Amino acid sequence: MAESPAPDPRAGLPAMDRLLALPAVAALEAAWGRTTVRTEARQVLADARAGLASGSPVPGVDALIQTLTHRLEALPGRGPRALFNLTGTVIHTNLGRAPLPAAAIAAMATAAGTTDLEFDLPSGRRGERDHHVERLLCELTGAEAATVVNNNAAAVLLLLNTFAEGREVPVSRGELVEIGGSFRLPDIMRRAGARLVEIGTTNRTHASDYTESIGPETGMLLKVHPSNYVITGFQQEVTIGELAGIAHAHGLPLGWDLGSGSLVDLSRFGLEREPTPGEALTAGADLVTFSGDKLLGGPQAGIIVGSRSAVEALRRNPLKRALRVDKVTLAALAAVLRLYGRDETLRQELPVLRLLTRTQTEIRALAYRLRTPLAEALGPPWEVEVVDLASQIGSGALPVASLASAGLAIEPLLERGRNAALEQLHRRLRRLPTPVVGRIQQERLLLDLRCLEDEPGFLAQLPEIAAA
Ligand SMILES: *Cc1c(COP(=O)(O)O)cnc(C)c1O
Repeated sequence: MAESPAPDPRAGLPAMDRLLALPAVAALEAAWGRTTVRTEARQVLADARAGLASGSPVPGVDALIQTLTHRLEALPGRGPRALFNLTGTVIHTNLGRAPLPAAAIAAMATAAGTTDLEFDLPSGRRGERDHHVERLLCELTGAEAATVVNNNAAAVLLLLNTFAEGREVPVSRGELVEIGGSFRLPDIMRRAGARLVEIGTTNRTHASDYTESIGPETGMLLKVHPSNYVITGFQQEVTIGELAGIAHAHGLPLGWDLGSGSLVDLSRFGLEREPTPGEALTAGADLVTFSGDKLLGGPQAGIIVGSRSAVEALRRNPLKRALRVDKVTLAALAAVLRLYGRDETLRQELPVLRLLTRTQTEIRALAYRLRTPLAEALGPPWEVEVVDLASQIGSGALPVASLASAGLAIEPLLERGRNAALEQLHRRLRRLPTPVVGRIQQERLLLDLRCLEDEPGFLAQLPEIAAA
Protein backbone atom coordinates (compact mmCIF):
# COMPACT_ATOMS: atom_id res chain seq x y z
CA MET A 1 0.00 0.00 0.00
CA ALA A 2 1.32 3.43 -0.98
CA GLU A 3 2.18 5.69 1.92
CA SER A 4 0.00 8.79 2.11
CA PRO A 5 2.14 11.93 1.67
CA ALA A 6 3.00 13.82 4.85
CA PRO A 7 0.62 16.80 5.27
CA ASP A 8 2.19 20.07 4.08
CA PRO A 9 3.18 21.87 7.32
CA ARG A 10 2.58 25.19 5.59
CA ALA A 11 -1.14 24.46 5.73
CA GLY A 12 -0.90 25.11 9.48
CA LEU A 13 0.02 28.76 8.89
CA PRO A 14 -2.88 31.20 8.64
CA ALA A 15 -3.33 32.95 5.32
CA MET A 16 -2.50 36.64 5.21
CA ASP A 17 -6.21 37.57 5.00
CA ARG A 18 -7.06 35.54 8.07
CA LEU A 19 -4.21 37.04 10.03
CA LEU A 20 -5.24 40.57 9.11
CA ALA A 21 -8.84 39.90 10.11
CA LEU A 22 -7.89 39.06 13.70
CA PRO A 23 -8.99 41.72 16.23
CA ALA A 24 -5.45 41.88 17.69
CA VAL A 25 -4.03 42.71 14.26
CA ALA A 26 -6.77 45.27 13.64
CA ALA A 27 -5.68 46.94 16.89
CA LEU A 28 -2.09 46.98 15.63
CA GLU A 29 -3.30 48.59 12.39
CA ALA A 30 -5.03 51.33 14.37
CA ALA A 31 -1.79 52.05 16.22
CA TRP A 32 0.76 51.64 13.44
CA GLY A 33 -1.09 52.26 10.20
CA ARG A 34 -2.36 49.73 7.69
CA THR A 35 0.54 49.78 5.23
CA THR A 36 3.18 49.31 7.91
CA VAL A 37 1.31 46.41 9.56
CA ARG A 38 0.73 44.66 6.25
CA THR A 39 4.35 44.97 5.19
CA GLU A 40 5.54 43.56 8.50
CA ALA A 41 2.85 40.80 8.60
CA ARG A 42 3.89 39.62 5.15
CA GLN A 43 7.47 39.38 6.41
CA VAL A 44 6.42 37.49 9.56
CA LEU A 45 4.59 34.90 7.47
CA ALA A 46 7.48 34.62 5.02
CA ASP A 47 9.89 34.06 7.93
CA ALA A 48 7.57 31.44 9.42
CA ARG A 49 7.39 29.61 6.09
CA ALA A 50 11.16 29.67 5.80
CA GLY A 51 11.34 28.33 9.36
CA LEU A 52 9.05 25.42 8.48
CA ALA A 53 11.19 24.54 5.50
CA SER A 54 14.15 24.18 7.82
CA GLY A 55 12.22 22.01 10.25
CA SER A 56 10.86 24.48 12.86
CA PRO A 57 7.43 23.70 14.32
CA VAL A 58 4.34 25.53 13.07
CA PRO A 59 4.01 28.75 15.12
CA GLY A 60 0.61 29.40 16.70
CA VAL A 61 -1.39 32.52 15.90
CA ASP A 62 -0.45 34.09 19.25
CA ALA A 63 3.23 33.59 18.52
CA LEU A 64 2.81 35.17 15.09
CA ILE A 65 1.11 38.21 16.59
CA GLN A 66 3.81 38.52 19.19
CA THR A 67 6.51 38.41 16.52
CA LEU A 68 4.60 40.98 14.52
CA THR A 69 4.30 43.26 17.56
CA HIS A 70 8.03 42.98 18.27
CA ARG A 71 8.85 43.79 14.65
CA LEU A 72 6.64 46.86 14.77
CA GLU A 73 8.16 48.04 18.02
CA ALA A 74 11.65 47.69 16.61
CA LEU A 75 10.86 49.82 13.55
CA PRO A 76 12.84 53.03 13.33
CA GLY A 77 11.21 56.41 12.85
CA ARG A 78 8.35 56.32 15.30
CA GLY A 79 9.36 59.72 16.64
CA PRO A 80 11.48 60.52 19.67
CA ARG A 81 10.98 58.25 22.68
CA ALA A 82 11.33 58.91 26.37
CA LEU A 83 14.33 57.19 27.92
CA PHE A 84 16.45 57.03 31.06
CA ASN A 85 19.67 59.01 30.59
CA LEU A 86 22.10 57.21 32.90
CA THR A 87 25.17 58.22 30.89
CA GLY A 88 26.35 60.69 33.52
CA THR A 89 26.19 63.58 31.04
CA VAL A 90 23.34 65.78 32.19
CA ILE A 91 22.82 68.02 29.13
CA HIS A 92 23.40 65.32 26.50
CA THR A 93 23.05 66.61 22.94
CA ASN A 94 22.22 63.14 21.55
CA LEU A 95 19.60 62.62 24.25
CA GLY A 96 17.66 65.83 23.73
CA ARG A 97 19.67 68.14 26.02
CA ALA A 98 17.64 69.82 28.78
CA PRO A 99 14.62 67.91 30.09
CA LEU A 100 11.83 70.48 30.32
CA PRO A 101 10.00 71.50 33.49
CA ALA A 102 6.36 70.59 34.01
CA ALA A 103 5.33 74.21 33.52
CA ALA A 104 6.91 74.23 30.05
CA ILE A 105 5.32 70.93 29.07
CA ALA A 106 1.89 72.24 30.05
CA ALA A 107 2.50 75.49 28.14
CA MET A 108 3.54 73.52 25.03
CA ALA A 109 0.33 71.50 25.12
CA THR A 110 -1.75 74.67 25.38
CA ALA A 111 0.12 76.40 22.58
CA ALA A 112 -0.21 73.37 20.31
CA GLY A 113 -3.71 74.48 19.32
CA THR A 114 -4.71 77.82 17.82
CA THR A 115 -2.91 80.67 19.62
CA ASP A 116 -2.17 84.40 19.47
CA LEU A 117 1.29 83.61 18.06
CA GLU A 118 1.41 86.72 15.84
CA PHE A 119 -1.78 88.40 16.90
CA ASP A 120 -2.21 91.35 19.24
CA LEU A 121 -5.36 90.58 21.20
CA PRO A 122 -6.06 94.13 22.55
CA SER A 123 -5.90 95.82 19.15
CA GLY A 124 -6.95 92.87 17.02
CA ARG A 125 -4.01 93.58 14.71
CA ARG A 126 -1.06 91.52 13.54
CA GLY A 127 1.44 90.95 16.36
CA GLU A 128 5.11 90.05 16.65
CA ARG A 129 6.03 86.52 17.73
CA ASP A 130 9.10 87.67 19.69
CA HIS A 131 6.78 89.58 22.04
CA HIS A 132 5.91 86.36 23.86
CA VAL A 133 9.42 86.20 25.33
CA GLU A 134 11.07 89.57 24.72
CA ARG A 135 9.91 91.32 27.89
CA LEU A 136 11.02 88.40 30.08
CA LEU A 137 14.40 88.12 28.35
CA CYS A 138 15.00 91.85 28.79
CA GLU A 139 13.98 91.68 32.43
CA LEU A 140 16.37 88.79 33.10
CA THR A 141 19.37 90.15 31.19
CA GLY A 142 18.93 93.91 31.33
CA ALA A 143 18.88 94.03 27.52
CA GLU A 144 16.92 96.61 25.55
CA ALA A 145 15.65 94.05 23.09
CA ALA A 146 15.66 90.31 22.38
CA THR A 147 14.82 87.87 19.64
CA VAL A 148 14.75 84.10 19.30
CA VAL A 149 15.71 81.76 16.45
CA ASN A 150 15.94 78.01 15.91
CA ASN A 151 19.18 77.41 17.85
CA ASN A 152 22.39 79.14 18.77
CA ALA A 153 24.04 78.12 15.49
CA ALA A 154 21.21 79.98 13.72
CA ALA A 155 21.69 82.95 16.04
CA VAL A 156 25.39 83.20 15.12
CA LEU A 157 24.54 82.78 11.43
CA LEU A 158 21.95 85.57 11.60
CA LEU A 159 24.29 87.85 13.52
CA LEU A 160 27.15 87.45 11.03
CA ASN A 161 24.93 87.68 7.98
CA THR A 162 23.26 90.84 9.24
CA PHE A 163 26.40 92.76 10.18
CA ALA A 164 29.18 91.23 8.14
CA GLU A 165 27.87 89.83 4.85
CA GLY A 166 30.63 90.41 2.29
CA ARG A 167 32.80 91.92 5.02
CA GLU A 168 35.58 90.83 7.35
CA VAL A 169 35.30 89.58 10.92
CA PRO A 170 38.50 89.17 12.95
CA VAL A 171 38.29 86.18 15.33
CA SER A 172 40.94 84.97 17.75
CA ARG A 173 42.56 81.65 16.76
CA GLY A 174 41.84 80.49 20.30
CA GLU A 175 38.11 80.82 19.62
CA LEU A 176 37.77 79.07 16.24
CA VAL A 177 35.92 76.18 17.78
CA GLU A 178 34.07 73.11 16.66
CA ILE A 179 31.12 72.22 18.87
CA GLY A 180 29.58 68.81 18.39
CA GLY A 181 29.85 67.30 14.93
CA SER A 182 28.35 70.08 12.90
CA PHE A 183 29.01 73.52 14.35
CA ARG A 184 32.39 74.78 13.20
CA LEU A 185 32.74 78.49 13.49
CA PRO A 186 34.74 79.01 10.24
CA ASP A 187 32.06 77.07 8.28
CA ILE A 188 29.19 79.07 9.78
CA MET A 189 31.03 82.30 8.98
CA ARG A 190 31.50 81.29 5.36
CA ARG A 191 27.81 80.34 5.03
CA ALA A 192 26.86 83.67 6.57
CA GLY A 193 28.85 85.36 3.81
CA ALA A 194 31.42 86.78 6.24
CA ARG A 195 35.16 86.62 5.67
CA LEU A 196 37.06 85.22 8.61
CA VAL A 197 40.26 87.02 9.52
CA GLU A 198 42.21 84.82 11.90
CA ILE A 199 44.12 86.79 14.50
CA GLY A 200 46.40 86.01 17.44
CA THR A 201 47.49 82.48 18.25
CA THR A 202 45.79 79.47 19.78
CA ASN A 203 46.86 80.37 23.30
CA ARG A 204 47.37 84.14 23.21
CA THR A 205 45.53 86.98 21.52
CA HIS A 206 46.20 90.63 22.36
CA ALA A 207 44.21 93.84 21.96
CA SER A 208 46.71 94.92 19.31
CA ASP A 209 45.83 91.84 17.23
CA TYR A 210 42.29 93.21 16.98
CA THR A 211 43.21 96.85 16.32
CA GLU A 212 45.75 95.89 13.64
CA SER A 213 43.23 93.70 11.83
CA ILE A 214 40.48 96.34 11.64
CA GLY A 215 40.14 98.07 8.29
CA PRO A 216 37.50 99.50 5.96
CA GLU A 217 36.27 95.98 5.18
CA THR A 218 35.60 95.00 8.81
CA GLY A 219 31.91 94.37 9.55
CA MET A 220 31.91 93.51 13.24
CA LEU A 221 33.93 92.02 16.08
CA LEU A 222 33.01 88.61 17.43
CA LYS A 223 33.99 86.83 20.61
CA VAL A 224 33.24 83.12 20.93
CA HIS A 225 33.03 81.08 24.11
CA PRO A 226 35.36 78.11 23.54
CA SER A 227 32.76 75.92 25.30
CA ASN A 228 34.03 72.39 25.13
CA TYR A 229 37.70 73.02 25.73
CA VAL A 230 39.86 75.23 27.88
CA ILE A 231 43.24 76.75 27.34
CA THR A 232 45.33 76.90 30.48
CA GLY A 233 48.93 77.83 31.18
CA PHE A 234 50.59 80.56 29.08
CA GLN A 235 47.35 82.06 27.93
CA GLN A 236 45.84 85.44 27.21
CA GLU A 237 42.59 86.63 25.78
CA VAL A 238 41.18 90.10 25.34
CA THR A 239 38.38 90.85 27.82
CA ILE A 240 34.96 91.78 26.53
CA GLY A 241 35.35 95.23 28.09
CA GLU A 242 38.56 95.91 26.14
CA LEU A 243 36.98 94.52 22.98
CA ALA A 244 33.97 96.80 23.40
CA GLY A 245 36.32 99.79 23.64
CA ILE A 246 38.06 98.76 20.41
CA ALA A 247 34.83 97.94 18.53
CA HIS A 248 33.06 101.14 19.48
CA ALA A 249 36.10 103.34 18.75
CA HIS A 250 35.84 101.99 15.20
CA GLY A 251 32.05 102.24 15.01
CA LEU A 252 31.69 98.43 14.84
CA PRO A 253 29.15 96.24 16.62
CA LEU A 254 30.50 93.64 19.04
CA GLY A 255 28.86 90.22 19.27
CA TRP A 256 29.56 87.48 21.82
CA ASP A 257 28.57 83.89 21.22
CA LEU A 258 28.25 82.75 24.83
CA GLY A 259 27.31 79.17 23.95
CA SER A 260 25.65 77.77 27.01
CA GLY A 261 24.69 81.07 28.58
CA SER A 262 23.27 80.59 32.04
CA LEU A 263 20.84 83.28 33.13
CA VAL A 264 21.93 83.06 36.76
CA ASP A 265 25.26 83.03 38.55
CA LEU A 266 25.84 79.30 38.90
CA SER A 267 28.26 79.69 41.80
CA ARG A 268 25.15 80.33 43.91
CA PHE A 269 24.38 76.65 43.38
CA GLY A 270 27.90 75.43 44.01
CA LEU A 271 28.72 75.18 40.31
CA GLU A 272 31.48 76.98 38.46
CA ARG A 273 30.87 80.59 37.43
CA GLU A 274 30.07 81.34 33.81
CA PRO A 275 29.58 84.86 32.46
CA THR A 276 25.85 85.56 32.19
CA PRO A 277 24.32 87.35 29.17
CA GLY A 278 23.49 90.25 31.48
CA GLU A 279 27.14 90.61 32.52
CA ALA A 280 28.23 90.35 28.88
CA LEU A 281 25.95 93.25 27.94
CA THR A 282 27.05 95.35 30.91
CA ALA A 283 30.67 94.77 29.88
CA GLY A 284 29.91 96.28 26.49
CA ALA A 285 28.74 93.58 24.06
CA ASP A 286 26.07 94.87 21.66
CA LEU A 287 24.61 91.45 21.01
CA VAL A 288 24.92 88.21 22.95
CA THR A 289 23.77 84.82 21.65
CA PHE A 290 23.21 81.62 23.62
CA SER A 291 21.34 78.31 23.47
CA GLY A 292 17.92 77.74 25.00
CA ASP A 293 18.48 74.07 25.79
CA LYS A 294 21.87 74.04 27.49
CA LEU A 295 22.37 75.53 30.96
CA LEU A 296 19.26 77.67 30.58
CA GLY A 297 17.25 74.45 30.79
CA GLY A 298 14.65 75.27 28.15
CA PRO A 299 13.66 74.17 24.64
CA GLN A 300 16.00 74.17 21.64
CA ALA A 301 16.36 77.82 20.66
CA GLY A 302 18.96 80.47 19.92
CA ILE A 303 18.45 83.53 22.03
CA ILE A 304 19.86 86.91 21.04
CA VAL A 305 19.79 89.85 23.44
CA GLY A 306 21.22 93.31 22.95
CA SER A 307 20.64 96.90 21.94
CA ARG A 308 17.33 97.84 20.34
CA SER A 309 18.88 99.04 17.09
CA ALA A 310 21.00 95.89 16.68
CA VAL A 311 18.06 93.54 17.38
CA GLU A 312 15.90 95.56 14.95
CA ALA A 313 18.56 95.06 12.28
CA LEU A 314 18.41 91.29 12.89
CA ARG A 315 14.61 91.33 12.57
CA ARG A 316 14.79 93.12 9.22
CA ASN A 317 17.05 90.38 7.77
CA PRO A 318 14.93 87.98 5.63
CA LEU A 319 16.99 85.11 7.10
CA LYS A 320 15.22 85.74 10.41
CA ARG A 321 12.04 84.45 8.78
CA ALA A 322 13.81 81.25 7.73
CA LEU A 323 15.29 80.70 11.19
CA ARG A 324 12.29 81.59 13.33
CA VAL A 325 10.89 79.37 16.09
CA ASP A 326 7.40 77.91 16.31
CA LYS A 327 4.62 78.55 18.81
CA VAL A 328 5.37 75.43 20.88
CA THR A 329 8.99 76.47 21.41
CA LEU A 330 8.01 80.01 22.34
CA ALA A 331 5.45 78.70 24.83
CA ALA A 332 8.06 76.44 26.47
CA LEU A 333 10.68 79.18 26.54
CA ALA A 334 8.29 81.70 28.10
CA ALA A 335 7.33 79.17 30.79
CA VAL A 336 10.99 78.45 31.59
CA LEU A 337 11.85 82.16 31.73
CA ARG A 338 8.97 82.73 34.15
CA LEU A 339 10.56 80.16 36.51
CA TYR A 340 13.66 82.38 36.60
CA GLY A 341 11.47 85.11 38.05
CA ARG A 342 11.19 83.18 41.33
CA ASP A 343 14.60 82.62 42.83
CA GLU A 344 13.55 80.50 45.79
CA THR A 345 11.85 77.81 43.67
CA LEU A 346 14.10 77.86 40.59
CA ARG A 347 16.47 75.10 41.67
CA GLN A 348 13.61 72.77 42.49
CA GLU A 349 11.43 73.49 39.46
CA LEU A 350 14.01 73.64 36.68
CA PRO A 351 15.15 70.06 35.93
CA VAL A 352 18.59 71.03 34.61
CA LEU A 353 19.47 72.88 37.81
CA ARG A 354 17.83 70.26 40.01
CA LEU A 355 19.87 67.49 38.35
CA LEU A 356 23.13 69.45 38.28
CA THR A 357 22.86 70.24 41.99
CA ARG A 358 21.76 66.82 43.22
CA THR A 359 24.10 65.73 46.01
CA GLN A 360 26.27 62.66 45.86
CA THR A 361 24.73 61.51 49.18
CA GLU A 362 21.26 61.53 47.67
CA ILE A 363 22.39 59.76 44.49
CA ARG A 364 24.31 57.16 46.49
CA ALA A 365 21.22 56.42 48.58
CA LEU A 366 19.27 55.85 45.37
CA ALA A 367 22.01 53.49 44.13
CA TYR A 368 21.78 51.44 47.33
CA ARG A 369 18.00 51.16 46.93
CA LEU A 370 18.29 49.93 43.34
CA ARG A 371 21.26 47.60 43.69
CA THR A 372 19.51 44.47 44.96
CA PRO A 373 16.40 44.67 42.75
CA LEU A 374 18.63 45.14 39.70
CA ALA A 375 21.00 42.33 40.69
CA GLU A 376 18.03 40.00 41.19
CA ALA A 377 16.49 40.94 37.86
CA LEU A 378 19.76 40.35 36.02
CA GLY A 379 20.69 37.12 37.75
CA PRO A 380 23.98 35.31 37.03
CA PRO A 381 26.55 35.95 35.67
CA TRP A 382 25.97 39.59 36.57
CA GLU A 383 27.32 41.31 39.62
CA VAL A 384 26.03 44.76 40.59
CA GLU A 385 27.97 47.15 42.78
CA VAL A 386 27.37 50.68 44.10
CA VAL A 387 30.17 52.98 42.91
CA ASP A 388 31.11 56.64 43.09
CA LEU A 389 31.17 58.31 39.68
CA ALA A 390 31.82 61.74 38.16
CA SER A 391 29.02 63.26 36.09
CA GLN A 392 29.56 65.90 33.44
CA ILE A 393 27.41 68.89 32.65
CA GLY A 394 27.59 68.31 28.90
CA SER A 395 26.89 70.37 25.78
CA GLY A 396 30.21 72.12 26.09
CA ALA A 397 29.25 73.85 29.31
CA LEU A 398 32.05 73.99 31.86
CA PRO A 399 33.93 71.15 30.14
CA VAL A 400 36.41 70.48 32.90
CA ALA A 401 33.96 70.69 35.78
CA SER A 402 32.88 67.30 37.06
CA LEU A 403 30.13 66.62 39.55
CA ALA A 404 30.56 64.04 42.29
CA SER A 405 27.95 61.39 41.58
CA ALA A 406 27.17 57.74 42.18
CA GLY A 407 25.59 54.82 40.43
CA LEU A 408 25.68 51.11 39.69
CA ALA A 409 28.49 49.18 38.04
CA ILE A 410 27.37 45.98 36.33
CA GLU A 411 30.03 43.39 35.72
CA PRO A 412 29.84 39.92 34.15
CA LEU A 413 31.55 37.21 36.17
CA LEU A 414 32.93 35.55 33.06
CA GLU A 415 36.38 34.38 32.11
CA ARG A 416 36.01 35.38 28.50
CA GLY A 417 33.74 37.41 26.26
CA ARG A 418 33.12 40.06 28.88
CA ASN A 419 32.93 42.95 26.45
CA ALA A 420 30.55 41.13 24.13
CA ALA A 421 28.35 40.25 27.11
CA LEU A 422 28.36 43.88 28.25
CA GLU A 423 27.45 45.16 24.79
CA GLN A 424 24.63 42.65 24.64
CA LEU A 425 23.31 43.65 28.05
CA HIS A 426 23.47 47.32 27.12
CA ARG A 427 21.51 46.54 23.96
CA ARG A 428 18.91 44.70 26.06
CA LEU A 429 18.54 47.73 28.31
CA ARG A 430 18.12 49.97 25.27
CA ARG A 431 15.31 47.72 24.07
CA LEU A 432 13.21 48.19 27.21
CA PRO A 433 9.86 50.01 26.82
CA THR A 434 11.60 53.05 28.33
CA PRO A 435 15.15 52.45 27.13
CA VAL A 436 18.03 52.74 29.59
CA VAL A 437 21.25 54.27 28.27
CA GLY A 438 24.41 53.97 30.35
CA ARG A 439 28.07 53.77 29.41
CA ILE A 440 30.58 50.95 29.15
CA GLN A 441 33.92 51.66 30.72
CA GLN A 442 36.72 49.36 31.77
CA GLU A 443 34.70 46.17 31.27
CA ARG A 444 31.76 47.40 33.32
CA LEU A 445 28.40 48.88 32.39
CA LEU A 446 28.01 52.05 34.44
CA LEU A 447 24.62 53.52 35.26
CA ASP A 448 25.14 57.04 36.65
CA LEU A 449 21.99 57.72 38.65
CA ARG A 450 22.26 61.53 38.80
CA CYS A 451 19.52 61.92 36.19
CA LEU A 452 17.24 59.13 37.42
CA GLU A 453 14.25 60.78 39.03
CA ASP A 454 11.49 58.31 38.12
CA GLU A 455 12.58 55.56 40.51
CA PRO A 456 9.21 53.70 40.40
CA GLY A 457 9.30 53.78 36.58
CA PHE A 458 12.79 52.28 36.58
CA LEU A 459 11.85 49.56 39.09
CA ALA A 460 8.67 48.70 37.18
CA GLN A 461 10.76 47.70 34.15
CA LEU A 462 13.03 45.28 36.01
CA PRO A 463 10.81 42.22 35.35
CA GLU A 464 11.23 42.93 31.63
CA ILE A 465 15.01 42.76 31.98
CA ALA A 466 14.64 39.39 33.67
CA ALA A 467 12.32 38.17 30.91
CA ALA A 468 14.57 39.33 28.07
C1 LIG B 1 26.60 74.95 21.71
C2 LIG B 1 27.24 76.11 21.05
C3 LIG B 1 26.80 76.55 19.80
C4 LIG B 1 25.70 75.85 19.06
O1 LIG B 1 24.50 76.03 19.74
P1 LIG B 1 23.20 75.18 19.31
O2 LIG B 1 22.12 75.73 20.18
O3 LIG B 1 23.53 73.76 19.56
O4 LIG B 1 22.97 75.47 17.87
C5 LIG B 1 27.42 77.63 19.25
N1 LIG B 1 28.42 78.27 19.88
C6 LIG B 1 28.87 77.87 21.09
C7 LIG B 1 29.99 78.62 21.72
C8 LIG B 1 28.28 76.78 21.73
O5 LIG B 1 28.72 76.38 22.93
